[in-house]
Amino acid sequence: MKGSEKKRKKLNRLGKMTLGSFILFISVLTYFIWDGIAEKNAAARKNIQMPTKIVENLNPIDKQSDKIEGKTNIVLDKNPANQDPKVNEKNNVVPDDKAAIEEDIKKHEQELEKHDQDMQKHEEKLDQHKEDIEKHEQKIKQQQNDVEKKNEDTKQEQKSEEPAKEKPSEEKPSGDKPNNEQPKVQAPAGKVVYLTFDDGPHAVSKDILKLLKKYNAKATFFMLEPNMKNYPDAVKAMVNEGHTVGVHGVTHQVSKIYRSPASFVGEMNQAIAFIQKTTNVQTHLIRAPYGSKPYVTAPFKAASDKEKMILWDWNIDSMDWKLTNGQYVDKVIQQTKQFKSKDPLIVLMHEKPTTLANLEKLLKYYKDNGYEMKALDEAMIPVQFK
Ligand SMILES: [Zn+2]
Repeated sequence: MKGSEKKRKKLNRLGKMTLGSFILFISVLTYFIWDGIAEKNAAARKNIQMPTKIVENLNPIDKQSDKIEGKTNIVLDKNPANQDPKVNEKNNVVPDDKAAIEEDIKKHEQELEKHDQDMQKHEEKLDQHKEDIEKHEQKIKQQQNDVEKKNEDTKQEQKSEEPAKEKPSEEKPSGDKPNNEQPKVQAPAGKVVYLTFDDGPHAVSKDILKLLKKYNAKATFFMLEPNMKNYPDAVKAMVNEGHTVGVHGVTHQVSKIYRSPASFVGEMNQAIAFIQKTTNVQTHLIRAPYGSKPYVTAPFKAASDKEKMILWDWNIDSMDWKLTNGQYVDKVIQQTKQFKSKDPLIVLMHEKPTTLANLEKLLKYYKDNGYEMKALDEAMIPVQFK
């Protein structure tokens, strides 16, 4: 038993020694391995820590640059003594890059500024466009108003023109051409109307004069020489009662009075002479049969001007030669209300029974509406068709 026990103890001791040696070997090996790892770690740690050191040396401007998006890891040392080429290489940071970045920033800032300027310019342009649009709108409005006005005027002109064209040639033509153009004379202050009677005198002349007197109205008579011969007392009464007398020729026939400038002036002079002889009034006022258009052309006008004749047309046509049932009064009132010209109101009528029959209504209208009814005088600038 003893022998085998010794043997077993010997074996134990040997096993223990072997185990111890093994542990020692492992320990030594572990030490060397550990040391190697530690050294490697130390070297790595050394490399990582280097940039941090550089960061500490940066001035505030550089730190601001660091904030640029995507460039956070790039740090630079302004101090050349701290610059480590190895580190710079490893972090891909070189002085040239910084300059490039700064340039980039500058570029962006410049671009931004330019954009701002462009925006401002655009806004200014937009404002200008808005102003232009406003101006255009005002212009359009003005033009529309003008067109409306013109249309209204044209309507009025057509109204007075149309019936005139239908005018029949009477045995004794009494009508005259309507005014379809703007006269050129300035109106006197206050409400004044100038009533004019053509083609007389007539048997009704004395009644017309009576009515005029009743309404304290003065008028102007453009008379034909043959009729004056028939009613010389009417001509005298006109002058005595403060009315104005003028002439309308002799024949009242287009083929005769407008045959030549000489015949035109001749007829007028013949009638003027009769008034001179009958009333001692030297008149220069004439009215052309059917008005100055289209018959009184430049040679006719020149001839009458040479004789110092004053040619009068009109701007309110009563159409009394046609409207024999009194409608002419409403026509004259309507035109008076619509009258917009600054020229004096010149109303054309005729010495006719149908005119007399409704004359009082017209005189009453003018009196009630504050119009002064005056006779033309030779100092006035005549209303003439253009
Ligand atoms: Zn006439």
